[in-house]
Amino acid sequence: MENLFPILIAEDDPVSRMLLEKTLVKAGYEVASVTNGLEALESFSEKFFPIVLTDWMMPEMDGLQLCRAIRKNISTGYVFIFILTGKDSIDNMVAGLEAGADDYLTKPFKRAELIARLKTATRVLELEKSLKDANEEITILAITDALTGCYNRTFMDEHLPKEIKRAVRYNHPISLIMLDIDHFKQINDTYGHQAGDEVLKELVKSINRSIRCDVDWVTRYGGEEFLVVFPETDFERAELLAERLRRDISQNTIRFKEKEIRITASLGVTGFTSSDTLREVSYEAMISLADKSLYQAKEEGRNRVVGRAVES
Ligand code: GH3
Ligand code: MG
Ligand code: MG
Ligand code: MG
Repeated sequence: MENLFPILIAEDDPVSRMLLEKTLVKAGYEVASVTNGLEALESFSEKFFPIVLTDWMMPEMDGLQLCRAIRKNISTGYVFIFILTGKDSIDNMVAGLEAGADDYLTKPFKRAELIARLKTATRVLELEKSLKDANEEITILAITDALTGCYNRTFMDEHLPKEIKRAVRYNHPISLIMLDIDHFKQINDTYGHQAGDEVLKELVKSINRSIRCDVDWVTRYGGEEFLVVFPETDFERAELLAERLRRDISQNTIRFKEKEIRITASLGVTGFTSSDTLREVSYEAMISLADKSLYQAKEEGRNRVVGRAVES
């Protein structure tokens, strides 16, 4: 079954309007109608109409003005516009198309022709939708780590500096946890690279379970190293979260082909303490604090949390 996109009719003549409505409803379309261009434009603030059938001569705002207004103001999606009019000279048709209409029908319309032309419009709109969906998917893929599904470095490089700047400017807390799996090379060597991949996927799942999914976010910083960003969370709280995360990771058993794999991780934490008032910190400085702390956690024996608050 083809998609039947909703149609908005703009027509001041009640007889023509009712005839159009009836024909389209009978053909299965969802239809709304108004009596001039201005009302048509207002309808868009409540609902998006991918197809507009507009009369030419109408009070308040005519069909040509409506075409121009839709092209200028409506960006939700493409609107396929038909101009329906009694004017049938070539000049009028050109004026309609130049104003932004996609197609032109003369009154009195013939039912079969109207329906056939709506099918053409539907093909164009479906093509537009599939291009839009494909673009959205590409955008998502570009910022997602293919193995684990968390964000990748591209996303982090773009968003973390902004997130930190915003926190500094508005005096909000923000914390980071840098997490690295301990002796991960040994996991690969012992169980195989595929098992290692499974461990990475499970680790991201378990991080996602313990963060607030609408605010906090995880990014794959390197091979087996992840950065968790906690906007609106101060350093003291982030340290507690890191400790809970460390404990959960060390207690989880990851099953892979009848094998039971246990891992531990080391975590470096940084962030603003709740008593900080005057603050200024760069993205690089914060990453470096988390990194140094992680390094220290490794040095001190792994499977532990080390924290360094941002100095104010
Ligand atoms: P440490 O406790 O000091 O962090 O030791 P480590 O063995 O975890 O660290 P090292 O940096 O020596 O090794 C990291 C390993 O992670 C080596 C690399 O092959 C592995 N790795 C990186 N990316 C992936 C991946 O996508 N899949 C798998 N299976 N392994 C990966
Ligand atoms: Mg009219
Ligand atoms: Mg490691
Ligand atoms: Mg590492």
